[in-house]
Amino acid sequence: MLLKINPLKPESKLIKIAADAIKSGELVAFPTETVYGLGADALNEAACSKIFAAKGRPQDNPLIVHVDSIKMAESIGEIPKEYRQILNEIWPSPITVIIKKRPILPDSATASLDTVAVRIPAHPIALALIKEANTPIAAPSANLSGKPSPTEAKTIIEELGEKVAVIIDGGPTFFGLESTVIDLDSFTILRPGPFTPEEIAKKFGKNPKVYVAPKNVQKPISPGLKYRHYAPDKSLFLFSGKPTELAKISNGLDKNFCIIGSNELCDSIYNKRALKIRLGARDNSYEIAKNLFSAIRSVDKYEIEFGICETFSDNGIGLAIMNRLGKACGGNAFSNIDQLKKLIKINHI
Ligand code: AMP
Ligand code: MG
Repeated sequence: MLLKINPLKPESKLIKIAADAIKSGELVAFPTETVYGLGADALNEAACSKIFAAKGRPQDNPLIVHVDSIKMAESIGEIPKEYRQILNEIWPSPITVIIKKRPILPDSATASLDTVAVRIPAHPIALALIKEANTPIAAPSANLSGKPSPTEAKTIIEELGEKVAVIIDGGPTFFGLESTVIDLDSFTILRPGPFTPEEIAKKFGKNPKVYVAPKNVQKPISPGLKYRHYAPDKSLFLFSGKPTELAKISNGLDKNFCIIGSNELCDSIYNKRALKIRLGARDNSYEIAKNLFSAIRSVDKYEIEFGICETFSDNGIGLAIMNRLGKACGGNAFSNIDQLKKLIKINHI
């Protein structure tokens, strides 16, 4: 069932329909300020298992549990005393904290870890849904495992459709990138997101470490980090040099390809074989973040052989943008035409 709900003033009659579905153990896709989530009652083992089945999500990748209050957060996990007041001030916002879990949570919500990922989302529909269902809602992004997260309801209809009892259409999400995940114990950002390291330092009064995944690890600290992510079926390559250099290379290529880049870069490319996917003005990183996933998703719809992505500054939300772009490109980066030719050959293009 598709429910169109006003994102600023959610209709309580419609929220009740979705909350009833959650309470009876069904899946509900709903918007948050980051991306759309695929939600289930976090306290219901069978309901949480449905999320894994619908997404094709590996069993060892735990879910983020969404709550509507510090009180509800404390019913499922132990918030360290020194962080309680800070979280009370900064939530609702796109930051997820890893804390010790309480036994009430079923193993399927936390992939049997002794910790849980929790946040209060800053979206009227998400908050109204949790409040009405009166239970914490486990919700990873509402996409097939490995694909970019959905920022619009129509992507979920296309990708998950009948597997979801209720899909709420609350319009496009605000940030377009998933929440920042921070492990409070080691004070380490496991996944960069819209809540930037600079903001964390300011609010918490200390600098977070930023986790960098070592290659070929068997047991990463955040299970989701080891999986292929955000990748279209076609190959994407990241150009690590200046946009003027990239324009030169792109204008000389004799293949059908696409460029995912800033308006400024796209304006400087005149090669007819280059399809330009514009992310926004280069200095507007929030616009670039918001358009990123739909741009990556669109790559597979075009008659092209591969795609090239521009590199952006990693300040602020830029760290999250570059994290997702790096994963979408599967580590394939180049800085000159010879390296690009090698990548094209290795990928049999
Ligand atoms: P998703 O909800 O699909 O955006 O993914 C949630 C992310 O949070 C994944 O990268 C998970 O591995 C991570 N995560 C969830 N729970 C935990 C936890 N208890 N410890 C570490 N990482 C977690
Ligand atoms: Mg996800």
